[in-house]
Amino acid sequence: MDLGFAESCPQIWRLYSQYFPSKLGGAPAWLSFDCLPGYEELKCHGCQTTSKFLLQLYSPGSEEEDDCDETVSQTFHRSLFMFVCAKESCNSRAIKCFRSQLPRTNPYYSYKPPNYDTFDPSFSPKRPLSGKVCHVCSCKATKLCGECKLYSYCSKAHQALHWKTDHKNKCANPPQGEFSSDDTLGSYFFKEYEIVMDVEDISDRKPKSEEEALAEYKRYLAQKSEGKRESSSDWEAAGEVQVADKMFMAFRERIADNPDQIVRYEKGGKPLLVSDEGKPPLDIPACNSCGGEREFEFQVMSQCLSYLNVDTSVNSLDWGTLIIYTCKKSCQIQGYAPEYVWKQDFSNKDLVAGK
Ligand SMILES: [Zn+2]
Ligand SMILES: [Zn+2]
Ligand SMILES: [Zn+2]
Ligand SMILES: [Zn+2]
Repeated sequence: MDLGFAESCPQIWRLYSQYFPSKLGGAPAWLSFDCLPGYEELKCHGCQTTSKFLLQLYSPGSEEEDDCDETVSQTFHRSLFMFVCAKESCNSRAIKCFRSQLPRTNPYYSYKPPNYDTFDPSFSPKRPLSGKVCHVCSCKATKLCGECKLYSYCSKAHQALHWKTDHKNKCANPPQGEFSSDDTLGSYFFKEYEIVMDVEDISDRKPKSEEEALAEYKRYLAQKSEGKRESSSDWEAAGEVQVADKMFMAFRERIADNPDQIVRYEKGGKPLLVSDEGKPPLDIPACNSCGGEREFEFQVMSQCLSYLNVDTSVNSLDWGTLIIYTCKKSCQIQGYAPEYVWKQDFSNKDLVAGK
């Protein structure tokens, strides 16, 4: 199992598409520059707003998967992109994942691997992306400002947002030269970090006693229930030892050595569940593209939320863990193929049962 950690990245160029980054927040660094997901693919089924870029992982195919020559391997480059509905008070909260992949010889990137030590401007993608993406969210654009014809948008909503924050003062007299992102729109995205992967070391772990794990679990529940209960002492008396969620204790123990992990990655591996309640469905929906089986690839931990500056107290973005299942074969696709996301919440049953 590989663990992913969020780290700030002073060399922002390392997060550009041509460096094949894994990253949290900021704008998506698209892999394929064609057939991008747009408003139709990204809109939340509940509130109809477009979901916001959460993270991307660079996870090229392994040699076992592609026994053919690497020059023709379809997964020489491969990235997964996640989006979430971040609208306050939305009850549906769309959570989406897309897979994109490219052979080593492709229309966008050099055959040569990038040099990660210094930024090389000549190492830019061979085909530009500008004009194809929404000025606000960087997803597929289908609309153009009818006045200046310079700025593109994914939707009426983002056109209106840009107009309101900045563009109404500049449309008649747009700034010359390269237009990159407006500072005024910078706050649209989640805060940006690089995701650095590391192998999980479980060899020298001292197993926790059941009492320790239980004490930790109680502390957690007491914290969670603050404001919902009068005191945590009546919970001591109620004999909740039996109702404590064993799966959750196992979960806490497993992440105890690396509490900052935001991602757990192992294609074909097993996810770490946060509760006994609500297990993932036995029949994960088949791949939309090839109809073949999907398998576990990675999960996003709730710790991730603490990096995003979202308020999780009021019916906001929240999850115990997000588990992502992808096409087992990483079948050949054009552009971006949707994969399957399953959300598990932390259990509340102990809080109710402890009354
Ligand atoms: Zn929504
Ligand atoms: Zn947009
Ligand atoms: Zn304009
Ligand atoms: Zn498939």
